[in-house]
Amino acid sequence: MRVSELLAPTLREAPTEAEVISHILMLRAGMLRKVASGVYTYLPLGYRVLKKVIQIVREEMDNKGGQELMLPIIQPAELWLESGRWNVYGDELFRMKDRHGRDFALGPTHEEIITDLVRGEVRSYKQLPQLLYQIQNKYRDERRPRFGLMRGREFVMKDLYSFDKDEAGLDESYRKMYEAYTRIFARCGLQFRSVEADPGAIGGSSTHEFMVMADSGEAAIVYCDSCNYAANVEKAEAVPEQLSGDGEMLSLDEVSTPGAKTIEDVSAFLKIAGHNLIKTIVYQTEEETVIALVRGDREINEIKLQNMLGSLQLFMADERTVKELTGAAPGFAGPVGMKGARIIADREIPLMRNAVTGANKTDAHLVNVNPGRDFTPDVVADIRLVRAGEHCPRCEGVLAEARGIEVGQVFKLGTKYSKALGAKFLDENGKEQLMVMGCYGIGVSRTVAAAIEQNHDGDGIIWPMPIAPFQAVVIPVSSKDEGQMGLADSLYNALREQGVETVIDDRNERPGVKFKDADLVGYPLRIVVGSKTVEEGTVEIRHRRSGNVQVVKLEGAAQLIKKIVADEIAESLK
Ligand code: ATP
Ligand code: MG
Repeated sequence: MRVSELLAPTLREAPTEAEVISHILMLRAGMLRKVASGVYTYLPLGYRVLKKVIQIVREEMDNKGGQELMLPIIQPAELWLESGRWNVYGDELFRMKDRHGRDFALGPTHEEIITDLVRGEVRSYKQLPQLLYQIQNKYRDERRPRFGLMRGREFVMKDLYSFDKDEAGLDESYRKMYEAYTRIFARCGLQFRSVEADPGAIGGSSTHEFMVMADSGEAAIVYCDSCNYAANVEKAEAVPEQLSGDGEMLSLDEVSTPGAKTIEDVSAFLKIAGHNLIKTIVYQTEEETVIALVRGDREINEIKLQNMLGSLQLFMADERTVKELTGAAPGFAGPVGMKGARIIADREIPLMRNAVTGANKTDAHLVNVNPGRDFTPDVVADIRLVRAGEHCPRCEGVLAEARGIEVGQVFKLGTKYSKALGAKFLDENGKEQLMVMGCYGIGVSRTVAAAIEQNHDGDGIIWPMPIAPFQAVVIPVSSKDEGQMGLADSLYNALREQGVETVIDDRNERPGVKFKDADLVGYPLRIVVGSKTVEEGTVEIRHRRSGNVQVVKLEGAAQLIKKIVADEIAESLK
């Protein structure tokens, strides 16, 4: 490709619409343009990268016996009503009506469609397992589309669904996909971790997310410094800690705490440490009001709490509800004498001695509160957020915190969809059984953005070789110099003959402009053809990542560059 003919409008300035570096650089490098919030056009360079990631994903899915197919984007509401998701998916589902008034949705995911296909076509255990996948646009009307390709409303996903005859089969399909994902992200040249994730209110099933490590990531993860435990904080298991000892229980007392509403206020006012307080938060679900208790220095993990309650919704109660329940202003709620709401206590609560809680009376707290003596929780469960520095739930190690970008997720669905939609088969004994399913997604377009988050510097993108839009750029220092142009052209042709994906920057621009653009776009190899090439028959190969420069003979340069490219790609396959 000739840069003079390439539609890659580079920008000198960072566009104001972009916040994260991947978005800024894709706009600046002329790879991406916004059409509407969360909806983008991929320009040729951007699309080349996307296609490379798609190809890697496809090869690894095929390697594991995946069969590629293509499901429709437009999905009839009937199937979503059958699965029960039409009414619970909420505003994220792009809904529409056809001319006859029938309801449809743009597919945010395809469990319904695929299960409908398989229930109609697969009858016998002999036809199982089936691993079916597609790579296609998905639609989600995200509340906050942002960060370019990271969180779009239209984005490219690979989704594979596995159908097995039993749990053991599902375990095997899950293992295969886990392996494939590990290879895919390694082949893309990314640093990533798989972490235990929250399976949501369905519960029971296991699931892992694949996280590309980056400070701009929206997900927080914790990992152990001495074993391989790693989890999304949404899911991370908390190890209860006993701090207040098991000394004598003192007698319950009420103290006046005027205006002390927060943990910090009470802690300062009574001169006691936060971990001796019981934090009480009033929540509501679609069905009930509950109070949740954690130690004063801890935070509630609302995802854990919601899963434990099995509710569709969970939100903090408003002032009026709190007043009705406790008879006090917010900030003074507590479990002692609580009526009208279930008490859900974190596992650390029963370990506390002589603690402080709200007195359910404005401007008053109770001291020497002893769980078990002064109140009894209805449920004791792990409902708190885990932080760095805490004990690992699996070993003696200590947890550290990092941020990640979720690029993929593998999920054991079990029989949730096969049951709802009646996907059954006849087993070896001629008995009807439900298929056991798994689903496995990769955010293909998000992976492109994640790759840039991890691979860039002040000058632009540094593409890992396997996903670079082009592997090399040939730059004649002076396009007006016929000698240089002739040699640059022949090198460009030789590289293409060797199968190296190459562009030649033949534009009539100053060398500085061409070098800047080459760095911005992030071609892994830059080959400069200048006066030395004409005079001495040498060219300069500069490696974008290391900045190292090799001066080599023009003769044989194409073969050498081919080898550099091949070696780097082979490295990512190891
Ligand atoms: P998130 O928690 O980030 O909203 P999710 O868990 O809802 O994602 P899944 O349903 O697991 O997403 O989808 C599979 C993959 O698709 C995700 O791992 C992610 O990489 C990608 N993905 C999800 N939503 C988006 C989006 N709005 N834009 C780009 N990629 C997305
Ligand atoms: Mg997910």
